[in-house]
Amino acid sequence: MMNLILFGPPGVGKGTQAKILSHIYHIPHISTGDILRQAIKEGTPLGLKAKSYMDAGNLVPDEVMIGLIKDILTSGQCRNGFILDGFPRTVAQAEALQKNFQGLNLTVHHVINFVVCEKEIVDRLSQRYVCRKCGKIYNFEIDHFKPGDPCFKCGGEIFQRDDDKPETVKKRLEVYHQETEPVKAYYEKLGLLRNIDGIGEIDEITQRLLAVTKK
Ligand code: AMP
Repeated sequence: MMNLILFGPPGVGKGTQAKILSHIYHIPHISTGDILRQAIKEGTPLGLKAKSYMDAGNLVPDEVMIGLIKDILTSGQCRNGFILDGFPRTVAQAEALQKNFQGLNLTVHHVINFVVCEKEIVDRLSQRYVCRKCGKIYNFEIDHFKPGDPCFKCGGEIFQRDDDKPETVKKRLEVYHQETEPVKAYYEKLGLLRNIDGIGEIDEITQRLLAVTKK
């Protein structure tokens, strides 16, 4: 059983690594960003609430996100482990999560902080494309595709997220520094924070994650 939180600014590789670890450990990958994008696509009340915040590069309000994570945790899907990706993003969310865990008799084993310099993040986000159908993440420079090419894995449409466009990326990084970075100290105090170098090949980073999580 492995209960993990992947932490760090947007574009550090949390989503890519969460998908890989989810296969290795057979535990669900819970990405609040993916859940919100799906809700927007389906036009649900959650999606309607979240859209304007996401488009502007802002955080969706805590009460919405805390309610969402509570529903996920109580649904039973995290019973055999989980990888949280994109939650918590504020200290209030982290505190609410700890409370929920206590209520459900769950614990977090590791909070893994991906360390990547700011320039690399901006480059990665501006080159990031995603398959609309299967969620595979592509890098425009590394993966050699042309806009309009189908996904290599499932044939779906590869697109650039609106919030990966340069103006919104800048805003998202500001929001990260102001609202999300303090969460690191919260987990450091609890003795749960593990820093890993987020620069390198995808496989190398997976190996670093396995080394940390197997301890
Ligand atoms: P992500 O895919 O994790 O980069 O998330 C995309 C966007 O979804 C963020 O920029 C926020 O607007 C919103 N979002 C995702 N997770 C959270 C969260 N835990 N708290 C607030 N907003 C969130």
